Amino acid sequence: MDTIHFLVDTEAAIRFFAFAGVFALMAAWEVAAPRRALSLPKGRRWRANLGVTLLNVTLVRVLFPTATVGMALATEARQWGLFNALAVPAPVAFVVSFLALDLAIWIQHVAFHRVPLLARLHRMHHVDLDFDVTTGLRFHPVEIVLSLMIKFVTVIALGAPAAAVLAFELALNLGSLFNHGNVRMPAGLDRLLRAFIVTPDMHRVHHSIVPEELNSNFGFFLSWWDRLFGTYRAAPRAGHDAMTIGVRDTRDPSVCAGFWPMLALPFRERADDFPCARPTMQRPANP
Ligand SMILES: [Zn+2]
Ligand SMILES: [Zn+2]
Repeated sequence: MDTIHFLVDTEAAIRFFAFAGVFALMAAWEVAAPRRALSLPKGRRWRANLGVTLLNVTLVRVLFPTATVGMALATEARQWGLFNALAVPAPVAFVVSFLALDLAIWIQHVAFHRVPLLARLHRMHHVDLDFDVTTGLRFHPVEIVLSLMIKFVTVIALGAPAAAVLAFELALNLGSLFNHGNVRMPAGLDRLLRAFIVTPDMHRVHHSIVPEELNSNFGFFLSWWDRLFGTYRAAPRAGHDAMTIGVRDTRDPSVCAGFWPMLALPFRERADDFPCARPTMQRPANP
């Protein structure tokens, strides 16, 4: 158990340095080989997006200082959850917990598109007029807290091992930085990676203004759930250069890239441009 205690003691440090390293790498890659031209000055968007990130990190640290790994340890100490009740080999518990957490986040993402009140919150992520590494960090604080609750419930129900929870948190965090990257990569590498994980070209489709494209590619780390549940879309119809990023009804840069207007958005606007119907279930036309 020494390994796990070591992991938890240094969890914050591991996560911070991994985060800073991957962020710097993606930011450099975006300068060296950008995928699209940005529509707004980078400084303006980055100030707002990183401001929201700082707010979220502070909020989570204050409200839930031990986070999901701490929850996994507490669950283990009380012998709660499926894997603490069953004598399952550790590697099996690790792999199943990782997969289940990733699936839970996929289901959560679909719910944040389908349920109108949740869609208002998640829409803040989508009104960004550009798509780059900082887009992967801008989520409404209420969405962050709800997401943490969903992860807590999943960790407790499963009795997920702390090491699996830490591995998943890293994958989710670093995966979001990677798959929001405004980066160009060789088609062969994209194809290879996409067989397993969500790549920037795959997730960018989900940031399209086109309803069918917005309602596809909900995955945040593993690319398998969208293929399994029929929501996978390989590319935007207009192509990555010509596609429009964002949502239909909110395109004012002072709102889309403004710290306070962004946070106020869910309380001011309905998510009418977030079509809740499944792409395959078209609403009948009015007679
Ligand atoms: Zn979304
Ligand atoms: Zn996104």
